Amino acid sequence: MRVDTVYENARFLTGTKESVALAALNGRIVALGHDAAALSAKRRVDLGGSVVVPGFHDAHNHMAWFGMALDDVALSECRGVDEVYDAVARRAAETPPGGWIIGSGYDQNKLVGGHPTRQGLDRAAPGHLVRLKHTSGHMTVVNSAVLERLDLRNVPVGGDVVRDEDGSPTGLLREQAQLMLRPLTYPTPVERVVRGLDRASERYLAEGITSVQEAGIGGGLVGETPAELAAYQLARERGVLRVRSTVMVAASVLHDLDAGARSEARFPAEEPSALYGLDLGMRTGFGDEWLRIGAMKLFADGSLIGRTCAMHEPFEGEPDNVGYFQVPEDEIARTIAAAHKAGWQIATHAIGDRAITVVLDAYEAALKADPRRDHRHRIEHCAVLRPEELKRLASLGLIASPQGRFVNEIGDGMRAALGPGREPWCYRLKSLLDAGCVLPASSDRPVVEGAPLLALADMVRRKTASGVVLGPDERLTPAEALRAYTYGSAYAAFAEKDLGTLEIGKLADFAVLSADPTDESTLDSIHVVATAVGGDIVYERS
Ligand SMILES: [Zn+2]
Repeated sequence: MRVDTVYENARFLTGTKESVALAALNGRIVALGHDAAALSAKRRVDLGGSVVVPGFHDAHNHMAWFGMALDDVALSECRGVDEVYDAVARRAAETPPGGWIIGSGYDQNKLVGGHPTRQGLDRAAPGHLVRLKHTSGHMTVVNSAVLERLDLRNVPVGGDVVRDEDGSPTGLLREQAQLMLRPLTYPTPVERVVRGLDRASERYLAEGITSVQEAGIGGGLVGETPAELAAYQLARERGVLRVRSTVMVAASVLHDLDAGARSEARFPAEEPSALYGLDLGMRTGFGDEWLRIGAMKLFADGSLIGRTCAMHEPFEGEPDNVGYFQVPEDEIARTIAAAHKAGWQIATHAIGDRAITVVLDAYEAALKADPRRDHRHRIEHCAVLRPEELKRLASLGLIASPQGRFVNEIGDGMRAALGPGREPWCYRLKSLLDAGCVLPASSDRPVVEGAPLLALADMVRRKTASGVVLGPDERLTPAEALRAYTYGSAYAAFAEKDLGTLEIGKLADFAVLSADPTDESTLDSIHVVATAVGGDIVYERS
C-alpha cells in the first residue's frame, strides 16, 4: 500500500497507547507504529521529536460570535469603568456620527466602579449608538440613544431592565431583555458571519483545535441569524470553515412538524417519530464529518458571575436575589420532552443549582416516558452541582459540560457569588469522572480565552486569578484533562467513531506539540508546533 503521508520521528499519544509513526490516506489513519513507518508514501514528514496528540475538540464554543467580536472594542483587559469609557470614546472618534459602537468582554467583577452606565456612555459617545456586551453574553449595557429606541413597557419574560434608586434605567439589560435590541441589529448579514467563522477558525488551528461544537445557532440569545446554517455551509464551500463543526440548534427554532396524523401506534423506542424539529425533519446527526447538526440548545437560566442564574439559596451578600429562569419551568420540561421524543440530543444551559434540579427533573421525566439508551443529553456549564444532584446526573447517563478555564478567569467572581459553603460544588471535574461520567472539555469562547493548552493547565491547577485554588478536590491529572479535551468532547458530539483518539480508521486530525501535555512540569511552556486536519498540515508555527 502506498499512502499519502507518513508522519514520523514523534511520540504519538494516540489516546490508547503510544506510537512512533502515523500513516494517512484519503484523510484517515490507515496505520500506526512500525507498520506505518514501513509503508511507502507520497510524502514523509519528520516531526523533529515533538509530541502528537489527537486534535483538540472544543465541546462548547461560539465561533461566529468570537470571530465577529474581533472587530468589537475589546474590554476584557479593562480594570476600571473609566477605562471602558475611554475605550468607547476612542472608537467614537473614528466612527461616523449616528453609527454603532459595539464593545465586548467586560466583567463588572474586575472593574473598579462595577457595570458601566448609560450616563457614562452618553458622555463618552454623545453622538452614537453604544452597546457593551458582558463577557458572559447574558447582559448588555446600552446608552440613552439606544434605550430611547426600545419599548421598555414590554420587557420579555426571563429578563429585566435594571433601574437605579429613582427608578430610571441604568442602561443594563439582563438575559432575555437583550432581545429588545433585536429589531435594531438582527439578523446579522450572512457574509459577516462567514467572515467571523473564517477569522475564528484560523485562530483555532493555531491552537491545535481541529473540531468544535457551536453552542446555539439560528435563534435565542446567541444565534446571529435565522440563516446561520447557510453561513456555515458557505464558509465550508469557500474553504474557510477550517475546523470540523457540529452546530447545536437554538431550541426556539424547533417546531411541530406536520408528519401526518399522530397515530397512537408507537414507534419503536429507538426510532424517533420526528414530529418536533427542523423543517424536513432534520435532527441531531444530520450532515457529514465537516458540518453536522448537533444537539438542541436550550437555555434554562443565566450567569453565575452576573448573578442571574436560578439558585436554591440566595447569592452571597444578596439575601433577596435567587436569580431566575430564562423560560418558565414547565416550558423547559415540555421542550425537553418533545425534543427527546423526536430523537434529538439535548444540551441545556443550567448554571444555578435550582436550574440544575429543574433540568434533571425534566430529563428524568422524558427518559421515563420514552426510554432511550444512548441519548447523551447534556447540561452545559453545570456550574453549581450539589452532591445529591451529581449522583442523579450520573445515574441518568447525562453529560455535564463544564469549562475548565472559567476557574482561572472568572473564578474569583464565582467565589464571591457563592460564598465559601457552596464553593466545593462549583465547576466540578474530578467528581464527575469518579461518578462514572464521560467528561468533555470546552471554553465557551469568547466568554474566556479558548486555547486548549491554557485550559489543560487550569483543569489541573484550578487556580483563580487571585491565586486561590477553587475546589482542590476537583483537580484533574494532566492525562485526564487531555482525554476530556479530545475523546470526552468527541463523545459528547456522538463523534467518537471518527474523532477523539488516533486509531486506524479514524480521521487524521492531530496537534503537534513542543512537549508532553501529560507532564505537569511542562504545562506552562508547552506550545502548538503544527496542526493537521484530514491528514494534511494546515497550520505551522513560523
Ligand atoms: Zn455558551
